[in-house]
Amino acid sequence: MEYVSTRGGSGPVSFADACLSGLAPDGGLYTPVEYPKLAPAKPGESYFELATRILSAFSAGSISPDVMAGLVEKAYSSFAHQSVTPLNQVGPDRWLLELHHGPTLAFKDVAMQIIAQIYDHLLAERGERLTVLCATSGDTGGAAAAAFAGLNSVDVFILHPYGRISPIQRRFMTSTGASNVHNLALDGDFDGCQAIVKSLFGDTAFRDEVSLSGVNSINWTRIAAQSVYFAAAQGALGADRKLRFVVPTGNFGDALAAYVAARCGMLNGLELVSAVNANRTMVDLMETGSLSKRSAIATHSPAMDIALPSNAERLLFEVMGREPSKLKNFYDSFTQSGEAELDDQSKGALKCVGVKAVSIDDDVTAREMNRLYDETGTLQCPHTAVGSASAREVPTDCVDVILSTAHAAKFPETISEVTGKTPPLPERSESFLARDEEFDRLEADLGKVREYIRERVGGAR
Ligand SMILES: *Cc1c(COP(=O)(O)O)cnc(C)c1O
Repeated sequence: MEYVSTRGGSGPVSFADACLSGLAPDGGLYTPVEYPKLAPAKPGESYFELATRILSAFSAGSISPDVMAGLVEKAYSSFAHQSVTPLNQVGPDRWLLELHHGPTLAFKDVAMQIIAQIYDHLLAERGERLTVLCATSGDTGGAAAAAFAGLNSVDVFILHPYGRISPIQRRFMTSTGASNVHNLALDGDFDGCQAIVKSLFGDTAFRDEVSLSGVNSINWTRIAAQSVYFAAAQGALGADRKLRFVVPTGNFGDALAAYVAARCGMLNGLELVSAVNANRTMVDLMETGSLSKRSAIATHSPAMDIALPSNAERLLFEVMGREPSKLKNFYDSFTQSGEAELDDQSKGALKCVGVKAVSIDDDVTAREMNRLYDETGTLQCPHTAVGSASAREVPTDCVDVILSTAHAAKFPETISEVTGKTPPLPERSESFLARDEEFDRLEADLGKVREYIRERVGGAR
């Protein structure tokens, strides 16, 4: 399977190259030249078998199905539930798809665990090493630390703003005890960390020197890995049933994975609600066909406090009829003026893809957290509550499948403020969180961070 950049300046490249580079060199996102035709989940097919089948199709030519089966086994045996992403019924024709049974209790684990195994395999084969660099305001850093810890071919550097992330989120990153995981606490805020990461990726000499790579949600492998649980849910609830997936959305990666599952033939049609908090870029895009520059607003659901959903680019590529020049003009206009608008034909196509976006504010989110507790006796995380509230807002004849993207225990502060109750930590996380933390505190200075990475990567080689 080959991949091209949505902006037309790169590819076709192999799966291995698309995976290991993350972002395409022209600033676009890698997408398959053609979607594979995949059969829906078969009765009795396990999550492991399904993931192997789907990921083998996307990595055809780079990784054999036998090898993939081994990587999938290593990735998902750390999950606390045998079906990896179980369904939990919360009402008549209303289910939660629980994506938080991985080591760091958030859905980022589902993709990050397998991407780490794939990286390690591809790099060992090539006899190469890579440096994974990311900034985190919460869940991504922990998931990356847990997934890459102890792997031979990758050094991971995670930048977080000192004192500004919750203790439990920090502990998931800093307690791995692995010598290839490096945590930097920078003075300042998340945007400062993010700016340093961007500058380092933009520094071609440094980028080549340490072989930088990105595993944020623009990496196609994450989308492919996430398409598996949509197919699994359709299989578990019955191939003939009409489902509506309600997806708490930040960068639109998870929602795009549902679109991909449908495009490949694994869902019974596509009906999708992209549920956002007060950061309503997706709502405006779906309703008006235009994209405007905004700043992120802080809410109860911090993992979704994103002003520009990066994976919307892949959806827009499709509605523009896969014409890279059109897409490039659209994003060039957005970069220059902070505004871009689709032409009428693309607007029409966007209305027909089966995606609707709904915005839920903090008050409604809080009310929904209490309501879910009253109805089910279980505390749910604020991101899941945004999804659940969105589902109530738009009635449907379909069976609702709401993605539960994090375990409540990951957001104890917000949950106890809103519900007056403290979510218990799963037992398996207690031992993990009892370990010593390791991180270095540094000024948010580009030169100092670059030097820090250079010394550590050099030492490991
Ligand atoms: C990352 C995240 C999301 C948003 O997912 P996207 O793929 O960025 O849309 C939602 N909920 C939680 C808990 C997350 O960590």
